[in-house]
Amino acid sequence: MKIVEPWIKVELFDGKKIMRRIERACRTCYRSESKMSEDSYKNLLKNCITRGHESVLEHEKITVRLYCDIGVYKDLTRHRFGSFSIESTRYCSYDKDKYGNEIKCINPSYIEDEEIYNVWKKAMEEMEKNYMKMKELNATTDMCRLILPHSTAAEVTMTANIREWKHILELRTTAHVHPAIRQLLIPLLKYFKEQMPEIFDSVEFDENFDQKYYAKLEIEDF
Ligand SMILES: Cc1cc2nc3c(=O)[nH]c(=O)nc-3n(C[C@H](O)[C@H](O)[C@H](O)COP(=O)(O)OP(=O)(O)OC[C@H]3O[C@@H](n4cnc5c(N)ncnc54)[C@H](O)[C@@H]3O)c2cc1C
Repeated sequence: MKIVEPWIKVELFDGKKIMRRIERACRTCYRSESKMSEDSYKNLLKNCITRGHESVLEHEKITVRLYCDIGVYKDLTRHRFGSFSIESTRYCSYDKDKYGNEIKCINPSYIEDEEIYNVWKKAMEEMEKNYMKMKELNATTDMCRLILPHSTAAEVTMTANIREWKHILELRTTAHVHPAIRQLLIPLLKYFKEQMPEIFDSVEFDENFDQKYYAKLEIEDF
């Protein structure tokens, strides 16, 4: 059993281009395309968001990759306008060389109590032992996955349009949300705020969540 850290990779995008394309789409409503200038999108977007004219945000999308636990993607996939491709616990057989012959678990670094952390760790080691034992007994991967816990690490590719990202980040970065999700989505929200302030500035998040728990965020350009 290997304990791994969560991460988030954002496919490279140009925030200004996204906002200008949304502006272009929105101006169809008023046939005010001629009013477009280098920074006319700023006021237009702010006005749209204040008035709740948010369907225009659906014209653009962003894709991210997450390395997270099953609990995280179980919650994120409740968002019906997101698109997901998720490492399958039915097809990925963790006893194989390709997976290092081991099960990876996301580090719950936010469990600060050493005694509780050690109980969690022991449970994960026991679970892996049992998974491998089932494999030795020729159990199918379908059978073995029955004992995988919420902590199991999985890679997820997630795409959503800008309106849905705004909605997801509004709901999933507050103090009510599981820390494993806050770890990933607060850094993402902060990045979106930097790149597209006119859209994401109004989104509030749990500012008291300690930055030492933030997942590493990288930009993916290929
Ligand atoms: C803190 C927290 C705790 C939660 N606890 C639980 C829990 O204990 N148990 C549980 O089952 N779930 C729980 N949830 C999940 C929650 O109820 C939602 O299912 C989830 O957050 C998806 O959000 P959404 O419905 O806004 O969806 P999205 O699918 O992201 O939809 C976006 C928006 O589209 C609209 N929409 C989408 N579909 C419909 C529809 N069919 N009819 C009308 N409008 C629609 C709504 O305005 C919705 O807000 C929790 C969520 C949070 C944030």
